[in-house]
Amino acid sequence: MNRPDLLARLESARAAREQAGLLRRARVCDALGARRIVRGRALVDFCGNDYLGLAGHRDLVAALSRTAAAEGVGTGAAHLVSGHRDEHAALEEELAEWTGRERALLFSTGVMANLGAMQALLGAGAMPVPGRASALCVQDRLNHASLIDGAQLAGAELRRYPHADAEGAARQLDARSELPAMVATDGVFSMDGDVAPLPALAAVCRARGALLYVDDAHGLGVLGAQGAGSVSAAGLGTADVPVLMGTLGKALGCAGAFIAGDAAVIEGIAQFARTYVYTTAMPAALAAATRAALRLVRFDREGRREKLAANIARFRTGAAHLGLPLMPSATPIQPLPMGTATAAVAAAAALEDAGFLVVAIRPPTVPQGGARLRITLSAQHTPDRIDALLDALARLPRPAESAVV
Ligand code: PMP
Repeated sequence: MNRPDLLARLESARAAREQAGLLRRARVCDALGARRIVRGRALVDFCGNDYLGLAGHRDLVAALSRTAAAEGVGTGAAHLVSGHRDEHAALEEELAEWTGRERALLFSTGVMANLGAMQALLGAGAMPVPGRASALCVQDRLNHASLIDGAQLAGAELRRYPHADAEGAARQLDARSELPAMVATDGVFSMDGDVAPLPALAAVCRARGALLYVDDAHGLGVLGAQGAGSVSAAGLGTADVPVLMGTLGKALGCAGAFIAGDAAVIEGIAQFARTYVYTTAMPAALAAATRAALRLVRFDREGRREKLAANIARFRTGAAHLGLPLMPSATPIQPLPMGTATAAVAAAAALEDAGFLVVAIRPPTVPQGGARLRITLSAQHTPDRIDALLDALARLPRPAESAVV
């Protein structure tokens, strides 16, 4: 039989990626406060998403250890079996209150939250039927991969609109007006750092009977009063954004995710999201640590959001003095376009030599020609570390103008 070989196909795809210089590898990066130890050297981390510097906070560590000592580590079962504990229930209530919604549902990761919630919302539990779209899902071109995957998993017709273009979203909705529809967007774009045009998207959805789904992985904790995120900062509520997704592994310094909305919507998701129903509940100790993080984030007695804002302003002002072509972003994500993947990798290596951990983001994570240094700021950075990073950036060779798309 002449059947093509799956492993051979995988290997040739991997080899092609290697040849294009686009292989990605995990490095061991041990934590040491705001620094990482890489190959025995301490580097200042300017690439993580611990925006408020909470991952190593004593309150989180204490809550985690206390709960693990009392309850053990693993929950041993899914939420709907016997894995749901007091800490999960309390965290869900607190997340709902924080985001101004009736109910929140915990997931083990943000990727799983998006896959599961989209599958439930777009497919209502039915298996996808080839050739028959379950719904229309209209997405920003720069949305996170898990939103794209979620729509495909649900058997929806996926249409994408130009980045941050609400009119483009409207045109895509109008193209298939007979299908039930969702518009899904990142609240803060993970690789560009800009904020979605949420009021305009809400108006487009309202006029066309479409559901607006916002993934606020990078907005929660950072934007809005009490860090309640990009939706709250835009003055929008549940009527405008019925489904809000948030992650717990970024500004909250933990791991996991949640979907928040009206109780009936969340109940439907709990019934049909396979990544909720069929997976082991996150450790209760992690839920306890997240509750401690949430208290710090909401009430912010240590002024972390203010420090973060000051750090962002310092970095942007310094970069402007140096003539660095940063992308327009007011959030902790401050990308510096490099054009080619080779230029981005060389710049990241030069920064590592200078003592900074900044990662080159290359296609396919970003579009062709859009390779960049994704520099991220945290409340934990001191002004002199930011100035030192700026000095190192000033010494990088500038990418040719034509190479930057
Ligand atoms: N959505 C967005 C916008 C993200 O940036 C990420 C993290 N890369 C996720 C979802 C996935 O979250 P998690 O890391 O918790 O799976």
